[in-house]
Amino acid sequence: MGITRILIANRGEIALRIHRAAHEMGIETVAVHSTADADAMHVRLADHAVCIGPPPAGESYLNHASIISAAEVAGCDAIHPGYGFLSENAKFAEIVEAHDIIWIGPKPEHIRTMGDKVEAKRTAGALGLPLVPGSDGAVRTFEDAKAIAQEIGYPVIIKAASGGGGRGMKVCESEDRLETLMSQAGSEAKSAFGDATVYIEKYLGNPRHIEFQVFGDGNGNGIHLGERDCSLQRRHQKVLEEAPSPVISDEDRTRMGEICAQAMRDMAYRGAGTIEFLWEGGEFYFIEMNTRLQVEHPVTEAITGVDLVREQIRIAAGKPLSVAQDDIEFKGHAIECRINAEDPFTFTPSPGKVTYYHPAGGMHVRVDSGLYAGYSIPPYYDSMIAKLIVYGRNREGCIMRLRRALDEMVVEGVKTNIPLHQELLHQPDILEGDYSIKWLENWLKERETGE
Ligand code: ADP
Repeated sequence: MGITRILIANRGEIALRIHRAAHEMGIETVAVHSTADADAMHVRLADHAVCIGPPPAGESYLNHASIISAAEVAGCDAIHPGYGFLSENAKFAEIVEAHDIIWIGPKPEHIRTMGDKVEAKRTAGALGLPLVPGSDGAVRTFEDAKAIAQEIGYPVIIKAASGGGGRGMKVCESEDRLETLMSQAGSEAKSAFGDATVYIEKYLGNPRHIEFQVFGDGNGNGIHLGERDCSLQRRHQKVLEEAPSPVISDEDRTRMGEICAQAMRDMAYRGAGTIEFLWEGGEFYFIEMNTRLQVEHPVTEAITGVDLVREQIRIAAGKPLSVAQDDIEFKGHAIECRINAEDPFTFTPSPGKVTYYHPAGGMHVRVDSGLYAGYSIPPYYDSMIAKLIVYGRNREGCIMRLRRALDEMVVEGVKTNIPLHQELLHQPDILEGDYSIKWLENWLKERETGE
């Protein structure tokens, strides 16, 4: 079941990332793109390119029929979905497989299970992952909600079963607000996701976001590649990620990593996945599993030396994992800054023509980006234009190198959040690794009010 030509069903830096892994394996690539992306770097570099529609993603990058037709016409034997877009669409994965094209991703049934939050939580519990205390599945009546909230204690969080992207969640501090917030959460969920089902869990006050990278070969072998700390977030969007986490001990990494790897073996999971936890008071609490490659995967690559995209392609082609758990060593420290085309103070997107571009370089500096001078950043998509990933022998050395790399990086013609990253890397809390998922928003608020 070899793979000779991959259709890349994505755009931007991740399309380029997949192209690079494929070419290093001697595999041809086919880029599909909207009319807005005709001049994108990955389109230029791919062996073939097919225009699949107008700029709106719904008519191009999310258009099942156009993508399948492009794969058929261009003679592709596999499709890599990247992240976002169709990567966690079980229906699309099934359509791909029904056309005898290899889906470089998890089995559709696992994508579906983990895509439903109530189902995902139940599955995770059955697999032995520690859960946030809360309702056993959906909560249908106010009386049930009241009983559960009393049992776990306030504050609680009401979440939409079909939620995503941090939407459809309400924090409730006390019983007198419960009924109102529950009906609000239900109706918001109904209008946003077409499903009013909600469930309840304990609201953690000041947790960190810790996620484990896992891999399965689809036949019951599974490994973990350690954790990433993604606590630095604004509006649930990650801004900077690091590996290893400054707060996770070697014992906890081994213990929790092994629980995650065992879960993958028990599921006979296939491909790459990320198991996300909130971490507070030394305890892990499962929140969700992403059945795809993550934006921040390069920090794991930096400290393990494993090429995760290559691994995805190998597994999809029916090959075994190239590394065993015992082969994986965690060495040094890596941090990724997400570089966005946006105002560093107001966060307003800043698309437009890049007049000058100079990426950072030097030892242990990696820039994943499709930028070049003269390129026009289209206004239709995500504002992330580059990822700067820096490795150091230890966290301190990594931060010094990252500051140096940020100073070198020049993007002119549009605004970027490089100044924000530069400022962050001088904050004592960041230098000490002392930050939770609340830290960035609190800091931004203080900065705005000049306190
Ligand atoms: P989504 O799929 O919408 O991103 P998640 O379940 O992953 O939803 O939660 C998104 C974010 O919401 C988390 O990263 C965390 O910041 C916050 N959150 C979710 N559940 C809880 C909880 N029980 N306590 C505190 N914060 C939570």
